[in-house]
Amino acid sequence: SQLEEARRALDAPLFADLSGDAQVSFEFFPPKTEKMEETLWNSIQTLSPLGPRFVSVTYGAGGSTRERTHNTVARIAKETDLAAAAHLTCVAASKNEIAEVADAYWRAGVRHIVALRGDPPEAGTKFVPHPQGYTGAAELVEGLTRLHPFEISVAAYPETHPDAESAQSDIDNLKRKIDAGATRAITQFFFTPEAFFRFRDKAAAAGIDAEIVPGIMPVSNFASTLRMAAMCNTEVPSWMGRLFEGLDDHPGARQLVAATLTAELCRKLYAGGVREFHFYTLNRAELSYAICHLLGLRPRVQTPELTG
Ligand code: FAD
Repeated sequence: SQLEEARRALDAPLFADLSGDAQVSFEFFPPKTEKMEETLWNSIQTLSPLGPRFVSVTYGAGGSTRERTHNTVARIAKETDLAAAAHLTCVAASKNEIAEVADAYWRAGVRHIVALRGDPPEAGTKFVPHPQGYTGAAELVEGLTRLHPFEISVAAYPETHPDAESAQSDIDNLKRKIDAGATRAITQFFFTPEAFFRFRDKAAAAGIDAEIVPGIMPVSNFASTLRMAAMCNTEVPSWMGRLFEGLDDHPGARQLVAATLTAELCRKLYAGGVREFHFYTLNRAELSYAICHLLGLRPRVQTPELTG
């Protein structure tokens, strides 16, 4: 009823009531140019005082960023106090090649892998396993656990992966990945918190007890978000289009709208008991920083004040 709805809205805590007990992680992509590398390191420096549980670096489609992902993750592991996680996909790679990549991570001190199947290099085509490779993420997780005692995170899809036969078979697949040794599922981005909550319930009903961490996409380019959402089955509510309407030439206003929208999503998730958030930073720090701030997070390490 309308009254119940109003009561639920009133029950959701305002930002002032969030106690700052949220934990976050940040995802970056490997830089292509020196300029992008500088942007990435500035972003890491800005976000690291928030004490993320880990920061992760993506792996380009078909393993196309193998070297760059490795170099970025290895540099984070070597030069910062952050726990570095490397995304690794099994598309277009033999089991031996995967083992080489995983061994190199282990030698570089990287202890956390985000294990994924990956998408075929040509968008829209069907995934075909490498003849000597893994058939999907569940097998990849199993293979990795046999190589080294990595901490392993996997992907989950509140609105169902486009290749899945059904929502239930997708949940069963997540269960296989957890049973194979993964300890955390990070979700695809979404904009309807109900989708996340329904998925969390179904996962619990299927006996999945690993943490399910929402993947948060702070949208600022609406057109590209629409394109990405169409590829991965994510519903974009029509009111979101209205929010970004007419802001193409107003980058400042767009950022403010993006921060408000994303913070509101996080606030609803928090009200529903979520305490872990994974941010798709797109290598830009400010939006994610602002949203974390609204979630109550403050720098753990104060920058020492200059004396004299
Ligand atoms: P899987 O878990 O193997 O599942 C793929 C599909 O196959 C699902 O629909 C599943 O239900 C179905 N399936 C699997 N096994 C079976 C079975 N036995 N029977 C029936 N159906 C089955 N991509 C990149 O290229 N690089 C990245 O760095 C990257 N990072 C990501 C990070 C996150 C948090 C997320 C959510 C996604 C990321 N992706 C990345 C995208 C991901 O690679 C794609 O979504 C890919 O299509 C599926 O990968 P997966 O690991 O979920 O696959």
